[in-house]
Amino acid sequence: MLVSRWAVSLLLVCMALGGCAKPPADHSALAYTRQSGARLTTNAILPGSAPVTQQPMPQRVFSAGSLTGRTLAVASSTDIILRPGEVVLTFDDGPRPGRTDKVLATLDEFGVKATFLMLGSAAQANPRLAQRVAAAGHTVGSHTFGHVDLNTLSRQEALDEIAQGERAVSLALGGAGQALSPFFRFPYLSQSGFLRTSLSQSGLIVLDVTIDSKDYYKESADTVAARTLSRLDAQGSGIVLFHDIHQRTIEMLPAFLAELEERGYSVVRLVPKDPGVFGRDIITAGAPELKGAL
Ligand SMILES: [Zn+2]
Repeated sequence: MLVSRWAVSLLLVCMALGGCAKPPADHSALAYTRQSGARLTTNAILPGSAPVTQQPMPQRVFSAGSLTGRTLAVASSTDIILRPGEVVLTFDDGPRPGRTDKVLATLDEFGVKATFLMLGSAAQANPRLAQRVAAAGHTVGSHTFGHVDLNTLSRQEALDEIAQGERAVSLALGGAGQALSPFFRFPYLSQSGFLRTSLSQSGLIVLDVTIDSKDYYKESADTVAARTLSRLDAQGSGIVLFHDIHQRTIEMLPAFLAELEERGYSVVRLVPKDPGVFGRDIITAGAPELKGAL
Protein backbone atom coordinates (compact mmCIF):
# COMPACT_ATOMS: atom_id res chain seq x y z
CA MET A 1 0.00 0.00 0.00
CA LEU A 2 1.54 3.20 -1.19
CA VAL A 3 -0.29 5.40 1.26
CA SER A 4 0.66 3.45 4.32
CA ARG A 5 4.25 3.18 3.18
CA TRP A 6 4.26 6.94 2.72
CA ALA A 7 2.77 7.42 6.15
CA VAL A 8 5.37 5.16 7.73
CA SER A 9 8.21 7.04 6.03
CA LEU A 10 6.75 10.27 7.23
CA LEU A 11 6.58 8.96 10.73
CA LEU A 12 10.20 7.84 10.54
CA VAL A 13 11.27 11.26 9.29
CA CYS A 14 9.30 12.85 12.08
CA MET A 15 10.91 10.61 14.65
CA ALA A 16 14.33 11.36 13.25
CA LEU A 17 13.73 15.08 13.46
CA GLY A 18 12.17 14.71 16.81
CA GLY A 19 9.11 16.48 18.04
CA CYS A 20 7.03 17.11 14.93
CA ALA A 21 4.39 14.74 16.22
CA LYS A 22 2.89 17.34 18.46
CA PRO A 23 -0.20 16.43 20.34
CA PRO A 24 -3.22 17.73 18.51
CA ALA A 25 -6.08 19.48 20.14
CA ASP A 26 -5.31 22.22 22.60
CA HIS A 27 -5.50 25.17 20.27
CA SER A 28 -6.34 27.61 22.98
CA ALA A 29 -2.93 27.12 24.48
CA LEU A 30 -1.02 27.10 21.22
CA ALA A 31 1.52 29.72 20.46
CA TYR A 32 4.11 29.50 17.77
CA THR A 33 7.19 31.26 16.63
CA ARG A 34 8.42 31.63 13.11
CA GLN A 35 12.05 31.79 12.17
CA SER A 36 11.49 35.42 11.31
CA GLY A 37 10.76 36.00 14.96
CA ALA A 38 7.12 36.88 14.50
CA ARG A 39 5.10 35.52 17.34
CA LEU A 40 1.45 34.85 16.94
CA THR A 41 -1.17 33.20 18.99
CA THR A 42 -3.95 31.05 17.71
CA ASN A 43 -6.42 33.11 19.65
CA ALA A 44 -6.20 35.40 16.68
CA ILE A 45 -7.47 32.61 14.48
CA LEU A 46 -9.68 30.40 16.50
CA PRO A 47 -11.73 32.38 18.94
CA GLY A 48 -13.00 30.30 21.81
CA SER A 49 -11.45 27.10 22.91
CA ALA A 50 -13.39 24.38 21.15
CA PRO A 51 -11.39 22.49 18.55
CA VAL A 52 -13.16 21.61 15.34
CA THR A 53 -13.44 17.98 16.33
CA GLN A 54 -12.96 15.92 19.44
CA GLN A 55 -11.56 13.02 17.49
CA PRO A 56 -7.84 12.41 17.25
CA MET A 57 -6.50 14.07 14.13
CA PRO A 58 -3.60 11.98 12.85
CA GLN A 59 -3.45 14.15 9.78
CA ARG A 60 -2.03 16.87 11.99
CA VAL A 61 1.23 15.01 11.52
CA PHE A 62 1.22 15.52 7.80
CA SER A 63 4.82 16.44 7.26
CA ALA A 64 8.18 16.91 8.87
CA GLY A 65 7.35 20.51 9.61
CA SER A 66 8.13 22.36 6.42
CA LEU A 67 5.37 24.48 4.98
CA THR A 68 7.09 24.41 1.60
CA GLY A 69 5.62 21.45 -0.23
CA ARG A 70 6.33 19.70 -3.48
CA THR A 71 6.00 21.11 -6.97
CA LEU A 72 3.27 19.42 -8.96
CA ALA A 73 3.53 19.49 -12.77
CA VAL A 74 0.06 19.57 -14.24
CA ALA A 75 -1.17 18.88 -17.77
CA SER A 76 -4.87 18.68 -16.98
CA SER A 77 -7.23 19.17 -14.06
CA THR A 78 -7.14 15.47 -13.30
CA ASP A 79 -3.42 15.69 -12.53
CA ILE A 80 -4.12 17.74 -9.43
CA ILE A 81 -4.24 14.97 -6.88
CA LEU A 82 -3.32 16.14 -3.44
CA ARG A 83 -2.05 13.95 -0.65
CA PRO A 84 -3.36 14.33 2.88
CA GLY A 85 -2.05 17.54 4.35
CA GLU A 86 -1.36 19.23 1.04
CA VAL A 87 -2.74 22.66 0.25
CA VAL A 88 -2.78 24.67 -2.96
CA LEU A 89 -3.10 28.42 -2.47
CA THR A 90 -4.84 30.39 -5.21
CA PHE A 91 -5.48 34.11 -5.46
CA ASP A 92 -8.05 35.48 -7.91
CA ASP A 93 -8.98 38.85 -9.36
CA GLY A 94 -5.64 40.70 -9.09
CA PRO A 95 -3.19 42.10 -9.55
CA ARG A 96 -4.07 45.09 -7.41
CA PRO A 97 -1.51 47.66 -6.21
CA GLY A 98 -1.24 47.87 -2.44
CA ARG A 99 -2.70 44.39 -2.01
CA THR A 100 -1.03 41.89 -4.31
CA ASP A 101 2.42 43.16 -3.34
CA LYS A 102 1.62 42.50 0.32
CA VAL A 103 0.45 38.99 -0.47
CA LEU A 104 3.75 38.44 -2.27
CA ALA A 105 5.72 39.62 0.77
CA THR A 106 3.86 37.25 3.08
CA LEU A 107 4.19 34.26 0.76
CA ASP A 108 7.88 35.02 0.46
CA GLU A 109 8.29 35.20 4.23
CA PHE A 110 6.85 31.71 4.52
CA GLY A 111 8.69 30.38 1.49
CA VAL A 112 5.61 29.15 -0.33
CA LYS A 113 4.36 29.53 -3.90
CA ALA A 114 0.82 30.19 -5.00
CA THR A 115 -1.17 30.39 -8.21
CA PHE A 116 -2.58 33.78 -9.21
CA LEU A 117 -5.56 33.77 -11.54
CA MET A 118 -5.40 37.27 -12.94
CA LEU A 119 -8.04 39.30 -14.68
CA GLY A 120 -6.97 40.51 -18.08
CA SER A 121 -8.20 44.00 -17.24
CA ALA A 122 -6.20 44.11 -13.99
CA ALA A 123 -3.02 42.74 -15.55
CA GLN A 124 -3.35 45.21 -18.41
CA ALA A 125 -3.67 48.07 -15.94
CA ASN A 126 -0.82 46.84 -13.71
CA PRO A 127 1.67 44.99 -15.91
CA ARG A 128 4.64 45.60 -13.61
CA LEU A 129 2.82 44.09 -10.68
CA ALA A 130 1.79 41.10 -12.78
CA GLN A 131 5.43 40.66 -13.71
CA ARG A 132 6.50 40.86 -10.07
CA VAL A 133 4.18 37.97 -9.25
CA ALA A 134 5.69 35.78 -11.96
CA ALA A 135 9.23 36.91 -11.15
CA ALA A 136 8.73 35.78 -7.54
CA GLY A 137 8.21 32.25 -8.81
CA HIS A 138 4.45 32.08 -8.54
CA THR A 139 2.28 30.57 -11.23
CA VAL A 140 0.15 33.01 -13.18
CA GLY A 141 -3.04 31.93 -14.91
CA SER A 142 -6.08 33.83 -16.12
CA HIS A 143 -9.62 34.54 -15.00
CA THR A 144 -11.29 36.17 -18.05
CA PHE A 145 -10.83 39.81 -19.03
CA GLY A 146 -13.58 41.57 -17.15
CA HIS A 147 -14.87 39.07 -14.58
CA VAL A 148 -18.10 38.31 -16.36
CA ASP A 149 -20.42 35.49 -15.36
CA LEU A 150 -19.84 33.39 -18.45
CA ASN A 151 -23.20 31.70 -18.16
CA THR A 152 -24.82 35.04 -19.02
CA LEU A 153 -23.04 35.10 -22.37
CA SER A 154 -23.45 33.13 -25.56
CA ARG A 155 -20.98 30.30 -26.04
CA GLN A 156 -18.92 32.30 -28.47
CA GLU A 157 -18.96 35.43 -26.33
CA ALA A 158 -17.81 33.37 -23.37
CA LEU A 159 -14.94 31.85 -25.31
CA ASP A 160 -13.93 35.28 -26.56
CA GLU A 161 -14.00 36.70 -23.04
CA ILE A 162 -11.72 33.92 -21.84
CA ALA A 163 -9.37 34.36 -24.79
CA GLN A 164 -9.26 38.11 -24.31
CA GLY A 165 -8.33 37.62 -20.67
CA GLU A 166 -5.56 35.21 -21.56
CA ARG A 167 -4.15 37.53 -24.15
CA ALA A 168 -4.13 40.54 -21.84
CA VAL A 169 -2.33 38.67 -19.06
CA SER A 170 0.06 37.20 -21.63
CA LEU A 171 0.84 40.65 -22.97
CA ALA A 172 1.41 42.03 -19.47
CA LEU A 173 3.84 39.24 -18.64
CA GLY A 174 5.40 39.28 -22.07
CA GLY A 175 6.78 42.74 -21.38
CA ALA A 176 9.25 41.03 -19.05
CA GLY A 177 9.68 37.92 -21.16
CA GLN A 178 7.50 35.84 -18.84
CA ALA A 179 4.94 33.30 -19.96
CA LEU A 180 1.37 32.88 -18.86
CA SER A 181 0.52 29.44 -17.54
CA PRO A 182 -2.56 27.74 -18.99
CA PHE A 183 -4.42 27.64 -15.67
CA PHE A 184 -7.87 29.17 -15.78
CA ARG A 185 -10.60 29.76 -13.23
CA PHE A 186 -14.23 30.56 -13.97
CA PRO A 187 -15.46 33.83 -12.43
CA TYR A 188 -18.00 33.08 -9.70
CA LEU A 189 -17.11 29.44 -10.43
CA SER A 190 -19.88 29.77 -13.00
CA GLN A 191 -19.29 27.26 -15.75
CA SER A 192 -20.87 24.83 -18.17
CA GLY A 193 -20.00 21.44 -19.58
CA PHE A 194 -19.53 23.03 -22.98
CA LEU A 195 -17.01 25.53 -21.70
CA ARG A 196 -15.10 22.97 -19.64
CA THR A 197 -14.81 20.67 -22.61
CA SER A 198 -13.83 23.48 -24.97
CA LEU A 199 -11.14 24.74 -22.64
CA SER A 200 -9.79 21.31 -21.96
CA GLN A 201 -9.58 20.56 -25.69
CA SER A 202 -7.73 23.82 -26.14
CA GLY A 203 -5.10 22.99 -23.57
CA LEU A 204 -6.38 25.22 -20.79
CA ILE A 205 -6.39 23.73 -17.32
CA VAL A 206 -9.50 24.58 -15.33
CA LEU A 207 -8.42 25.14 -11.75
CA ASP A 208 -11.30 24.13 -9.52
CA VAL A 209 -11.83 25.16 -5.91
CA THR A 210 -12.32 22.66 -3.12
CA ILE A 211 -12.17 25.15 -0.24
CA ASP A 212 -13.71 28.58 -0.65
CA SER A 213 -12.36 30.91 2.02
CA LYS A 214 -15.25 33.28 1.26
CA ASP A 215 -12.87 36.14 1.89
CA TYR A 216 -15.22 38.31 -0.15
CA TYR A 217 -17.75 38.27 2.71
CA LYS A 218 -17.67 41.35 4.88
CA GLU A 219 -16.32 39.48 7.87
CA SER A 220 -13.24 39.83 10.00
CA ALA A 221 -9.91 38.42 8.89
CA ASP A 222 -10.02 36.07 11.89
CA THR A 223 -13.34 34.64 10.80
CA VAL A 224 -12.05 33.98 7.30
CA ALA A 225 -8.95 32.25 8.65
CA ALA A 226 -10.89 30.15 11.15
CA ARG A 227 -13.42 29.02 8.55
CA THR A 228 -10.76 28.10 6.03
CA LEU A 229 -8.70 26.16 8.56
CA SER A 230 -11.77 24.35 9.79
CA ARG A 231 -12.67 23.23 6.27
CA LEU A 232 -9.12 22.18 5.60
CA ASP A 233 -9.06 20.08 8.74
CA ALA A 234 -12.36 18.49 7.73
CA GLN A 235 -11.18 17.66 4.21
CA GLY A 236 -7.53 16.98 4.98
CA SER A 237 -6.26 18.77 1.86
CA GLY A 238 -7.55 21.22 -0.68
CA ILE A 239 -7.30 23.92 -3.29
CA VAL A 240 -8.06 27.11 -1.40
CA LEU A 241 -9.63 30.13 -3.04
CA PHE A 242 -8.50 33.56 -1.84
CA HIS A 243 -8.58 36.97 -3.49
CA ASP A 244 -5.54 39.23 -3.50
CA ILE A 245 -7.75 42.31 -3.70
CA HIS A 246 -9.25 42.30 -0.20
CA GLN A 247 -7.68 43.91 2.84
CA ARG A 248 -8.95 41.16 5.14
CA THR A 249 -7.12 38.60 3.04
CA ILE A 250 -3.88 40.54 3.43
CA GLU A 251 -4.47 40.72 7.17
CA MET A 252 -5.31 37.08 7.72
CA LEU A 253 -2.62 35.55 5.56
CA PRO A 254 0.39 35.62 7.97
CA ALA A 255 -1.50 34.01 10.84
CA PHE A 256 -3.21 31.60 8.47
CA LEU A 257 0.08 30.38 7.03
CA ALA A 258 1.64 30.14 10.48
CA GLU A 259 -1.25 27.99 11.59
CA LEU A 260 -0.98 25.81 8.49
CA GLU A 261 2.64 25.23 9.37
CA GLU A 262 1.80 24.51 12.97
CA ARG A 263 -0.76 21.91 11.93
CA GLY A 264 1.71 20.19 9.63
CA TYR A 265 0.28 21.14 6.26
CA SER A 266 2.47 21.75 3.25
CA VAL A 267 1.79 24.13 0.39
CA VAL A 268 2.05 22.56 -3.05
CA ARG A 269 3.23 24.64 -5.96
CA LEU A 270 1.39 24.02 -9.21
CA VAL A 271 3.28 24.42 -12.46
CA PRO A 272 2.20 23.57 -15.99
CA LYS A 273 3.70 20.43 -17.44
CA ASP A 274 3.83 22.22 -20.75
CA PRO A 275 4.73 25.77 -19.78
CA GLY A 276 3.40 28.78 -21.60
CA VAL A 277 0.46 29.29 -23.87
CA PHE A 278 2.17 31.05 -26.71
CA GLY A 279 1.62 29.21 -29.93
CA ARG A 280 -1.36 27.38 -28.47
CA ASP A 281 -4.42 27.93 -30.58
CA ILE A 282 -6.77 28.66 -27.72
CA ILE A 283 -10.51 28.30 -27.94
CA THR A 284 -10.84 30.40 -31.06
CA ALA A 285 -10.94 27.57 -33.58
CA GLY A 286 -13.85 28.27 -35.85
CA ALA A 287 -14.45 31.56 -34.12
CA PRO A 288 -14.10 35.03 -35.51
CA GLU A 289 -10.91 36.92 -34.73
CA LEU A 290 -10.85 38.77 -31.47
CA LYS A 291 -11.96 42.31 -31.92
CA GLY A 292 -10.71 45.46 -30.28
CA ALA A 293 -7.52 46.45 -28.57
CA LEU A 294 -6.53 44.65 -25.39
ZN1 LIG B 1 -12.98 36.16 -9.44
